[in-house]
Amino acid sequence: MNRRLCHDVAIVGAGMVGAALALSLARAGFDVVVIEPRPPAPWRAEDDVDLRVVALAPSSIDLLERLDVWTSIASARSCPYRHMQVWDALAPGQLRFDAADQGIASLGQIVENRLIQHALWRALEAEPHITLRCPAQVAATEADGDRRTLVLADDSRIAARLVVAADGGDSALRQMAGIQTRDRDYGQRAVVAHVATERAHENTAWQRFLPGATLAFLPLSDGRSSIVWSVPEAEASRLLALGDGAFCAELGAAFDFRLGVVQATTARAAFALRLRLAERYLAPRFTLVGDAAHVVHPLAGQGVNLGLRDASELARVLLESRDAKRDFAGDAALRQFERRRRSDNALSAHAFDAIQRVFASDAMPLAALRGAALSIVDRVGPLKRLFADHAAGR
Ligand SMILES: Cc1cc2nc3c(=O)[nH]c(=O)nc-3n(C[C@H](O)[C@H](O)[C@H](O)COP(=O)(O)OP(=O)(O)OC[C@H]3O[C@@H](n4cnc5c(N)ncnc54)[C@H](O)[C@@H]3O)c2cc1C
Repeated sequence: MNRRLCHDVAIVGAGMVGAALALSLARAGFDVVVIEPRPPAPWRAEDDVDLRVVALAPSSIDLLERLDVWTSIASARSCPYRHMQVWDALAPGQLRFDAADQGIASLGQIVENRLIQHALWRALEAEPHITLRCPAQVAATEADGDRRTLVLADDSRIAARLVVAADGGDSALRQMAGIQTRDRDYGQRAVVAHVATERAHENTAWQRFLPGATLAFLPLSDGRSSIVWSVPEAEASRLLALGDGAFCAELGAAFDFRLGVVQATTARAAFALRLRLAERYLAPRFTLVGDAAHVVHPLAGQGVNLGLRDASELARVLLESRDAKRDFAGDAALRQFERRRRSDNALSAHAFDAIQRVFASDAMPLAALRGAALSIVDRVGPLKRLFADHAAGR
């Protein structure tokens, strides 16, 4: 390998988080190489809405706007949600958030993962400061003084001052760097599908807690709703095996018929759910972002929002450090990034975990508490603002 050929940053994984980080850094003048095994599946307007959607918080939309990709995403297909309503099957009380109360146009946007990835990928391809290595896979990595080397599966080598693992929850790079994780298997799967409903979704993200399960209805721009029904493994297998009629009858009842009768419009898919937190984010000339650092329960719809906050913060810290003429990927800068993001991510992950545990339990004292908790948060202004601010990424 040519010793002089050393990139500023190598990003392994071009999912939503890795691609957003790569663009942020390249636009700030860093020389970036991105390694990805496969390009994202293409997004086409004539295709049905993809089954994987995310609720993007305002902080994530701000980042995509700054990267000049939001306009193309929003004009292609996205749905704002202006209200959020949370209630419980076992107790009275509800929690409601309205964008108008916060003086904003929407609480966020529901967008297909595939569309976000497609828009970011096109921007990566057009960016002069980015070298895309795709298809390519990393076989090994080692730190080497002020740089880190990646050995690819084809035996070629890439050197960079900093390597960032953005290769998802099962991150191979994290394992190669010797970083352990703390895991909790929820023993649940999220069943997802798009459904038509008798009544309009009112641009509301709905969430109902059920004994041992959570059910979300997220609004889509064509009037349908995208459901995320997190249930124990065996229940997921049973729901997946039902015919459309029986599935929709159970789904409508589980949702308390808030939007009336439900009709299937797509096949169903399911994703295993777990909590996974990296014990540390740093190794020499190495760090983690996105799901490679933290996998959280989807009940709060925050996974990629946390990851995009990692990307913003890492870009900010590296830039500040470079502008101050320090070693931009040195220990001090990376420790600052880790300190800020690991605590926020761990706090969020444990909060979602606690909510999941309380609402997964049907023990009576907890069941009584849950309705009261929702009502208290709904009525106590400062507490409600705290929740709203956190969800918005403020
Ligand atoms: C049912 C469900 C609903 C969800 N809903 C929401 C929501 O509403 N809001 C929200 O914020 N989040 C949500 N999430 C979470 C969100 O989908 C994830 O947090 C997000 O996709 C993580 O993005 P990422 O870029 O970190 O990782 P990934 O999306 O996993 O991307 C990883 C990238 O790395 C690449 N890669 C993999 N292995 C390697 C390798 N060895 N070398 C190089 N590259 C590699 C992959 O090809 C991919 O491009 C949900 C998750 C689930 C399961």
